[in-house]
Amino acid sequence: MTVEAILLGTAQDGGVPQAGCYCANCGPARTDQTRRKLVACLGLADHATRQSWLIDATPDFREQLHVLHSLVPDCPLAGVVLTHAHIGHYTGLIHLGREAWSTRDLPVYTSPRMASFLCDNAPWSQLVALGNIKLRLLTPGSDAQLSPNLHLTPLSVPHRDEFSDTLAFVARGPTRRLFYCPDIDTWDRWEHELRRFVAGMDVALLDATFFSADELPGRDLGQIPHPLATDTADRLAGVNCDVRLIHLNHGNPLHRSGPEWDWLAARGIGVGAFGERWRLG
Ligand SMILES: [Zn+2]
Ligand SMILES: [Zn+2]
Ligand SMILES: [Zn+2]
Repeated sequence: MTVEAILLGTAQDGGVPQAGCYCANCGPARTDQTRRKLVACLGLADHATRQSWLIDATPDFREQLHVLHSLVPDCPLAGVVLTHAHIGHYTGLIHLGREAWSTRDLPVYTSPRMASFLCDNAPWSQLVALGNIKLRLLTPGSDAQLSPNLHLTPLSVPHRDEFSDTLAFVARGPTRRLFYCPDIDTWDRWEHELRRFVAGMDVALLDATFFSADELPGRDLGQIPHPLATDTADRLAGVNCDVRLIHLNHGNPLHRSGPEWDWLAARGIGVGAFGERWRLG
C-alpha cells in the first residue's frame, strides 16, 4: 500500500460531548470515553514519500495528530488542508504557534478567501507573520499535488460563508478516489449531481449533521442548513461506492447503533467510525 486515508473524527464542530450539553449522546459521553466523538477530520498518508496530512485542523487537533502519528509512525505531518473558517475546521491551527508546537513553514492549503481570512485576523495572522505556517493557495477545480502519489482536487460547495468560502476534496491515490465533504448546505445547489458524482468515487465521506428535521428543538434549521441524512441516503441507496456519513451533530441518533443506523444500513450506507482506514492504492 502506498497511500491511505484515515478517519480521525466524525462529529460536527462542537464534538461529543458538546459544551453545556447533557443530551442522550453528550451525557453518557462524559463518563464513557468510548462514546466520546472527535470533530470530523481526515488523515492522509503516503508511505512511499513518508509524509502525512490532515484535512482540517479541528479543536481536537492535539489528539488527532497523535493518533495519526501512532497509526503511520513513518509519515510525519507534511501539511494541513483546510475546508473553511467554521470553528470545527481551522481553530486547531492555534497549536502550531509559538505558545505550542511552533512549526516552521508548515504548508497550509486553503482557498484564497480562507487565506485572506487567516492573514487579516489575529491570532491566525501571527502564524503567517512568524512563519509557523506557509499558506499554499488552492484553486477550486484545479488539481493540487501533495506528493507524486497523492493528488487533491478542491471543489467549491455551497455553505454559510460568513468568514470564508467552503471546499470539499477529492483525494486521488495511485488507484482509488475518496470524496471528503464534511459541510454543505444542500446537495441541490451544488454544481454536481450527487449520485452520479459519488458513483465515480471509491469512498465518499459526507455531511450528515442532522438525521432528521426535528433534531434541534428551539433552533431554526433554516439558519444552519445541512442535507438530512435521510435525504442523502435516499439519493444514494445502493450506489456502487463505500459511503460513510460524518460530521454528525451532538444530538444525532446515528452516533449510536439503533433503528436509524439500521435504516441506513438497509440502503447500503454506513456511519463513519473513528480510525477507519481506506487504501487509495
Ligand atoms: Zn462543520
Ligand atoms: Zn448533546
Ligand atoms: Zn461549516
